[in-house]
Amino acid sequence: MVIPDFHIHTPFCGHAGGEIQQYVAAARGLGMPEMGFADHLPLFHLTDPSLTMGREDLPLYVERVRQLQAANPGFPVRLGIEADYIVQHLDDVAKALASYPFDYVYGSVHFIGDWGIDQSRFKYEFERRDINEVYEVYFEHVAAAARTGLFDIMTHLDVVKKYGHRPTKDMTAVYDGVGGVLAKSNVAIELNSSGLRRPVREIYPGLELLKIMRAHAVPITFGSDAHNPDQVGRDFSLLLRHARAAGYTDYVTFAGRERVPRPL
Ligand SMILES: [Zn+2]
Ligand SMILES: [Zn+2]
Repeated sequence: MVIPDFHIHTPFCGHAGGEIQQYVAAARGLGMPEMGFADHLPLFHLTDPSLTMGREDLPLYVERVRQLQAANPGFPVRLGIEADYIVQHLDDVAKALASYPFDYVYGSVHFIGDWGIDQSRFKYEFERRDINEVYEVYFEHVAAAARTGLFDIMTHLDVVKKYGHRPTKDMTAVYDGVGGVLAKSNVAIELNSSGLRRPVREIYPGLELLKIMRAHAVPITFGSDAHNPDQVGRDFSLLLRHARAAGYTDYVTFAGRERVPRPL
């Protein structure tokens, strides 16, 4: 079974390699039935061309994906986007999302306040804070993001572990709360293999958290978070095993912001 990769970046974001059409060729070469681009929506609280596409790039990104759709008849290339949850800029995000016919929208928590938690240049901040509090606040952000109704899927659900910092107390109640909010808000989660390429060397989300998501019947998607064509579909056999270990028997893809259920 070849599972489609729905979390693929493009050189528009400023930190991805290759040419955009090479990502499509990679997905087709692996025999995927479809694929989806989900590049970083511009941030509204800061401008950093190494983090996201610029605002002027958004229409170009959409146009480029449309060209690839036209050039690949019979092979659906979905138009997704990865949008940051920044509480002060939800209106800007909503406006941007409404401007284009996205097939799906990933929500990400990359920031706690001004702190870019997944950027290596700021990882020293983990040493200065109470790690349990960092986890609690991070997952409060995830729940708040899900409640906005802006996002179809929360991506890399426990990216807060990226550099290997672990909570020292039991997080079951926190995870359970998040699972409840996701289920109630109709938001899916993603099995993301990029954590295997980070210092933590683990899939996002970890098995304990994923089992709690399963208990809440939160649907899953699959993504590599590819920032290079050779990362498309990376470690999907491990993702599949992980999903099954948590008890999942199906997953979803998206078209026109509607879930399409698929057996695992
Ligand atoms: Zn990225
Ligand atoms: Zn991300």
